[in-house]
Amino acid sequence: MLANKRLLLQQSTASPYVCRACREHSTLITKGRYSVLLQRHSDKSNSSRSFSSSSRRSAKQAATGKKLLPDGPARTRFAPSPTGYLHLGSLRTALFNYLLAKKTGGQFLLRIEDTDQKRLVSDAEQRLCDDLRWAGIQWDEGPQVGGPYGPYKQSERTALYQEHAQKLLDSHSAYRCFCSADQPAPVQTDISQIGAAVGGCQSDCASIPDDQSAERAQNGHRHVVRMRKPAKSPSWTDLVYGKVSLDKSSKKTLPQNLGVDGVVLLKGDGTPTYHLANVVDDHHMKITHVIRGSEWMASTPLHMALYGAFDWASPAFAHVGLLTDKDQAKLSKRNFDTDIGSIRQKHGILPETLTNFLALLGWRNPTRDDVMEMKDLINTFDLKFTKGNTIVAFDKLWYLQKNHAKIIIERAMNSSATDPSFENLVGFVVDAVKKEYSPDQYTPILGQRDLKTHIMSVLSVDDKNYENPTEYVARNKYFFTSDLPAAAATATDPQLTTNEIEISASELQSAALELLASDSLERLAAASVPHDPSPAALKAHLARSAAAYSAAIEDVCRERVAASFSVQDGDEEAKTRLLKEWRKAIHRYLRDKLMFGMSGPSSSQTMSVLGYEECCRRIGAMTV
Ligand code: GLU
Repeated sequence: MLANKRLLLQQSTASPYVCRACREHSTLITKGRYSVLLQRHSDKSNSSRSFSSSSRRSAKQAATGKKLLPDGPARTRFAPSPTGYLHLGSLRTALFNYLLAKKTGGQFLLRIEDTDQKRLVSDAEQRLCDDLRWAGIQWDEGPQVGGPYGPYKQSERTALYQEHAQKLLDSHSAYRCFCSADQPAPVQTDISQIGAAVGGCQSDCASIPDDQSAERAQNGHRHVVRMRKPAKSPSWTDLVYGKVSLDKSSKKTLPQNLGVDGVVLLKGDGTPTYHLANVVDDHHMKITHVIRGSEWMASTPLHMALYGAFDWASPAFAHVGLLTDKDQAKLSKRNFDTDIGSIRQKHGILPETLTNFLALLGWRNPTRDDVMEMKDLINTFDLKFTKGNTIVAFDKLWYLQKNHAKIIIERAMNSSATDPSFENLVGFVVDAVKKEYSPDQYTPILGQRDLKTHIMSVLSVDDKNYENPTEYVARNKYFFTSDLPAAAATATDPQLTTNEIEISASELQSAALELLASDSLERLAAASVPHDPSPAALKAHLARSAAAYSAAIEDVCRERVAASFSVQDGDEEAKTRLLKEWRKAIHRYLRDKLMFGMSGPSSSQTMSVLGYEECCRRIGAMTV
């Protein structure tokens, strides 16, 4: 068993030395006291033997630059520590893993890595679940849904880790350390603390003979279990970086070990550290691919050493770069609220926008169109990630947001079924209106409708401009209040001058009043918005009413033109020109009166949303 394992390790590891050419084409990633050198070219003779066949294929593809997708179904996982809430970086990791599983017809797991009980945040697990579901990332196995390899929470699997720590002791891959058991446990998920875990043994516990070590443990001596240095330096073929081995120069800082030797696997209280639990679980949960942030790369040599020690095939690893701001600093609250909860609530970002935005950070979209819904992301996903960190440009977020809002509105407006994405969008706008305006301001505009229906109408006529709820409500403010300054044109100019003629404001007002008096509009007013309409019914109603307003405007313009020409005047060209001028003038007048001079949808669409009564009020017509 031991010999077999050694053989496997020898075959599966690369020399830590790299040739000159390699070094010239390598990237050095340094984290804490560890560095790993990323070799960009392939070295076939050293390709890892410990990969499973499909992950081995992916790794080869990484080295040769061919299409990066496993042939079979991938089992992936997202393994957050509930020591904080989901943020942009961790949601992106979850998304990439989800997309790979879905693309290949595999499974996506959620595993709660709560080995570091001291740093738990009480509501973090629930929030993580809520935020993932909000983003449309539903796990196939994990907390709340179960699965064949559960429990999916590490604090409920302690016996399994203890059993495996014993296996490592039995195979001489680990040793008990009695001198450091009462030292504070190393912080589990903070890589910069790995060094602290390595350096703790003061008394050469690794040399205690196995029988003596076992006897002391049996007699109740507190101890930790530490990893022994493997025979060969671990290495792996990363799906992003290709062959990765420990940097020769790191030997200077870590004599006698390569970031593996002496690392604590089981703490003094018998609970595992992140490393042991992570490797044991990935194996037992049959994970084939791990996509995780490059900050975890410093741990991967240790993880590979553990796979070797257990004689297990490792999953394939893809380490994706960090998200940074334009100054290459790690993304933080200074740039944007990176916490998903704030992004949802404060910025009114749609889940469709966020998943699309995150997928494009560090993944090379092979298509020309960046606007993708989850189904498109799944269809096009592959493992072509960019090397190095990714600068996050938020302009793209707003571009995607406008596009997704439009897709959602259009889809909802063409269906009679309730659409949760549309409901979510409407909800954001309802909240923003309530925040900005009092019921006294918007209730008179609503007439028989409720606020939600009114907002659905607004979204229907202005479907291309939703970036965030506050800005959207501001650009459409005339739909929510009449308490706005009169438009400059009518406030100062008694006449509205078009290209060729001057039409006085009073002429325009009488034309506008006349159009409101048209029979068809009065009939329209009588047939008010259907009560609690479906978006499709509302859209049909708005279209009918906009057509009626448009026809009434046209009629009134034609009448005015007809009145300007006597029967004998046959100058058709002049008539057409005058008609054009009238149309222009009346639309401008209506815009000033109805929209307070602001730009927005067409006059007839605006009238259809405001409703007959409100149009009459704004134009100054008396209604009974
Ligand atoms: N628990 C680790 C985290 O919080 C998981 C790292 C990994 O994916 O292996 O990110």
